[in-house]
Amino acid sequence: MAPLRRPATRSQRATCCSQVLLLLMGCGATPSSAAPPPPVALTPPTSTTETAAPVALPPTPPSPTTAPAPSPPATPDPAPPLLTLDTHMDTTQRMLDAHDDLAQRLADGHVDFPRMREGGLSGGFFSVWVNPRKFRGEAAWQRALALTHAVRALAAQHPDEAALCTTTDDVRRAAASGRIALLIGVEGAHALGTDDPELALARLRELYALGARYLTLTWTNDNALAHASTGAHPELGLTDLGRRAVREMNSLGMIADVSHVSDQTVSDVLDISTRPVLASHSAARALSDNRRNLPDALLTRIAAGGGAVCVNFYPQFLDAAYGAQQRAVVRAHRAEFDALESTGNSSTARGGPSRLALALRLDPTLRRPTVALLVNHVAHVVRVAGPGAACLGSDFDGIGELPAGLDDAADLGVLRDALSARGLDVRTIAAENVLRVLDAQTPSGVRVPP
Ligand SMILES: [Zn+2]
Repeated sequence: MAPLRRPATRSQRATCCSQVLLLLMGCGATPSSAAPPPPVALTPPTSTTETAAPVALPPTPPSPTTAPAPSPPATPDPAPPLLTLDTHMDTTQRMLDAHDDLAQRLADGHVDFPRMREGGLSGGFFSVWVNPRKFRGEAAWQRALALTHAVRALAAQHPDEAALCTTTDDVRRAAASGRIALLIGVEGAHALGTDDPELALARLRELYALGARYLTLTWTNDNALAHASTGAHPELGLTDLGRRAVREMNSLGMIADVSHVSDQTVSDVLDISTRPVLASHSAARALSDNRRNLPDALLTRIAAGGGAVCVNFYPQFLDAAYGAQQRAVVRAHRAEFDALESTGNSSTARGGPSRLALALRLDPTLRRPTVALLVNHVAHVVRVAGPGAACLGSDFDGIGELPAGLDDAADLGVLRDALSARGLDVRTIAAENVLRVLDAQTPSGVRVPP
């Protein structure tokens, strides 16, 4: 009887092909120059044994001269590596304005490559945020372009350490090759620098072409596309141009990000978007009554459309009472905080520690929220909206303080351990839910009925 060889299973072949692909491909190319991976044909089954009822094979008689070779133990397919992605980091400004090189360990702030590696942070979205008080009109657009190019330049300057990524495959390839995945997200449509509908949509397309994969429809201010949660009209939602922009993003494959926007804007986006949406840095309003946080009704609607809510780490969002107490301290001691900020410190990360230290000195009853409270928000999103709905959007380098026990990106292991100790699925929360939303933006991805 001729020896029978079992055909490789589909999963074995796929694993093999993936390994070959990883050897052949890198993730360092920019999106405009990256060649798509060559198609890999899976050999079709050569027999019907994969679909037919199992056939019992007669035992092979042992050779009279050699001992039977022990059959190798079945090895399960390896699980994909645990990734951690952060959907909102404001580090881009310091890269552009202070020429900080993230490949070096920086003396302050929250994010650089060494600390990302220490914290197991595989990568994330670097924010293109234009300060609307400093840059208006054409200047805002030029600033948005400069910030976008700063992220692209970081990848180009350190091709062995980081890679500009625009797809889930890019992210997984970067991680497999030990490189940090750099993605681009634009925060606030005021960055488009125009109210002209055709020009605004053309600029949206240009940002996409440069690698941006989400647009947060507003920052704290209203703009030509939408109303913000903290703007002049939080009772209003998308404008007509905003509706066109969401449809354009659906068509391009760009995530509509609903952090910062008014509840009505979130609802309007969910009414018309055919792709899952993301809240890139928003906590749960049921636990902390702040307009920047999302109410349960919207958490469930976002999840029902396949979207996800990445919980913001900012203590004043996580604990509204703590935020109110700290703001009261600042109001009561305005001159001292102004003096601190005039020395170059600010409410952002660079001056954050000294600003927080001043607040704690002036009001020793302030109790900083802890990592446990951050985990409460993540657990709430999971409880209300399901395990596919939660993710992490730190706001690193955009906020002046973090929960006690979490000082910067190097401490993210503490957060993963705390999530795990709470019985939460770290793998999905840390990255897979975000990758699912990103994947669903592609033409072949999941479409949700509007
Ligand atoms: Zn923000």
